[in-house]
Order: sequence, then structure tokens, then C-alpha cells
Amino acid sequence: MDTFGRIVDYLRISVTDRCNERCVYCMPEGYKGWEQKADHLTAEEIVQVVRVAAGMGFRKFRLTGGEPLVRRDLQEIVQAITKIPGVACVGLSTNGTKLAGLAQPLRDAGLRTVNISLDALDAAIYHRVTGGRVADVLAGIRAALAAGFERVKLNAVLMRGVNEQELWPLVLFAAEHGLPLRLIELMPVTTTEVLTEGNFFSVAEAMELLAERDELLAQPRAQIGWGPAKYYRLRHTGALVGFIGGMTDLHFCESCNKMRLTADGKIRPCLGDHGELDLREMLRGSKPDEAVREVLETALARKPLGHSFRDQFKPCRPMTAIGG
Ligand code: SAM
Ligand code: SF4
Repeated sequence: MDTFGRIVDYLRISVTDRCNERCVYCMPEGYKGWEQKADHLTAEEIVQVVRVAAGMGFRKFRLTGGEPLVRRDLQEIVQAITKIPGVACVGLSTNGTKLAGLAQPLRDAGLRTVNISLDALDAAIYHRVTGGRVADVLAGIRAALAAGFERVKLNAVLMRGVNEQELWPLVLFAAEHGLPLRLIELMPVTTTEVLTEGNFFSVAEAMELLAERDELLAQPRAQIGWGPAKYYRLRHTGALVGFIGGMTDLHFCESCNKMRLTADGKIRPCLGDHGELDLREMLRGSKPDEAVREVLETALARKPLGHSFRDQFKPCRPMTAIGG
């Protein structure tokens, strides 16, 4: 439990800051600040952090990045951490472009849930937002469905004038495949230019847009996964849509249950707060388990009550490095 009485039992682990896409809201243009290989935690070090965290009561772990599927030893990491006593669930967040060939091996390694980013179905719009090919993501989604994960969810970041017109096609796609779709407000996590009044599209506006086509029925008890989404069932299409209002929901942080491990081995108690504590040196020193535990406990004690995104927040390093 943190100092505000929140149960924090969820660790999001960025396994790499590299990515094969270039999403406009995530990757700063011309970004060159990549972590070097030696700065990344090794698979063994990640497993060790998970072992210590599980011993402290962390139960849910998500591998993210950057794009976790560009890391070659991901399967090994999954295999090792799913076997650790106390680990209840290991999930993955991915852009899905490399999932077609990896879904089954990852499922076999013990991965239970997958969140796939899909900001548009239209190939040109998808390419404009991410630099990638939507056909690859669709193949990844099909492979994830065939691999028999316990849960597959779709994520789309809301951007005014960019993918607004894609929301309804995404809802229909989600309904057709029985996949929860989460619509995420743009947050200032990459460069200050991304979050402008022109770009920002709130979850309230997205709800109004969907309400023109279907009736939204609140599902206050729907807890699908471990995230902060508020879910609605669309009466006619049957789609389950979650809204993540990180910027406009004033109660957003009240139920926060997570901390983050960055690709270069820092513990970050809150995405929207610059505070970080170093774990990498602890892992490379003597008595690493005790030192790691101490750092995790300090991080928990320093977890702020809320993020500072509404407070002229200036990102110090991009989301890819922190782990989205
Ligand atoms: N590469 C994977 C992916 O795209 O799903 C995992 C990492 S990505 C940083 C994790 C999530 O963060 C994605 O759903 C992405 O859309 C979201 N994200 C990235 N930048 C964001 C921003 N500026 N505002 C809101 N969400 C963002
Ligand atoms: Fe890569 Fe994911 Fe960031 Fe897009 S959101 S640039 S896919 S890490």
C-alpha cells in the first residue's frame, strides 16, 4: 500500500526504448537519444526485479516499451517471470506489427493477456499516425485471437482531426471481434508540441460522437484488466468501450495501482511526475535483492497523490524510454 492507501500491485516494465514505429504522439521527430545496449537491463536483471517485486506483493506485470516485440529475448523473459511464485498475470502491450509470428510462442511461454494499439483502420491514416502498415497489425490481431490469450484489448489514442473519423469503424471492428476497445486521451509524454488544443480530443467528446450512433450504457462494475478505463457497453453494436481520461478525469489517480520500470532500470512511481529511482546500479552491486527491495519500497513511499500533467508538465524523456 502507498502513503495514500492505494494498493499498488502492478508493475509495468519497459523492456526496450526501441520501436519499429514512429507514432506522432509518442516518438519525437528525429529522436536520437536511444539507450545503449549496456544501459538496458538484461533479461536476468528484469527477472530479478520481478522476483523481488512479487515477494513484496506485486501481482500483475506488463511488458511494454518502446515496442517489446523488437527485443529478441522477450520469450525467455516471459517464460521466466510467469514461473515466479506470486506472479498472478503477465501481459504485453504492443503495436501488433510483429505479433503475427510471435503470438503463439508468447502464449506458449505463459503470456496471458495482450493489449494492441490500433489508432485507425484506414491504411493511410494509420500510416500517417504511426509510420507503419495497418495490415501487419490486423494480422497480429488475428494471430493473437488464434493463440488463445485470456484477453486481447485494443487501444486507440484520440487525436482531433486525425483519427476522429476512425472511431466508429474501430468500434464496429471491436464489436465484430468481441474485443474491448479503449480510447485514450493524449497526454504530454513526449514533446511539448504534441499536446496542443488543436490536437486534444477529450473522452467526453468521443463519448458524444459515439452517442450520435448508439446508446452508451455505463458498466460501473466492469473491470477488464488492471487499467484505469471507465467502461460502457454500446447497446446496439454490443461493443465494450473503455475511456481513459488521463487529462480530464479529475479522479484519475485515485485508484492508481502501478509503478513503472524503465528500459534503463529506473523505477518511476508515476508516469506524470519526473521522480525516478535507480535500480540498475543496485542490481549490479552486491546483495541486489535487498537493495532492490529497499528502492522499490522508497519508490512506493514517494508515489505522488496525482500526476502533474495539467500543470505545464514538460516531459524530460519520451514515453518509449519510460514505458507506456
Ligand atoms: N509499442 C507499444 C504500443 O504502441 O502499444 C507499447 C508501448 S506504447 C508507449 C503504450 C501505450 O501508450 C500505447 O497504447 C500508446 O498508444 C500509448 N501512448 C503513447 N504515447 C501517448 C501519448 N502521448 N498520450 C497517450 N497515450 C500514449
Ligand atoms: Fe512505438 Fe508504441 Fe510509441 Fe508507437 S506508441 S512509437 S508503437 S512505442
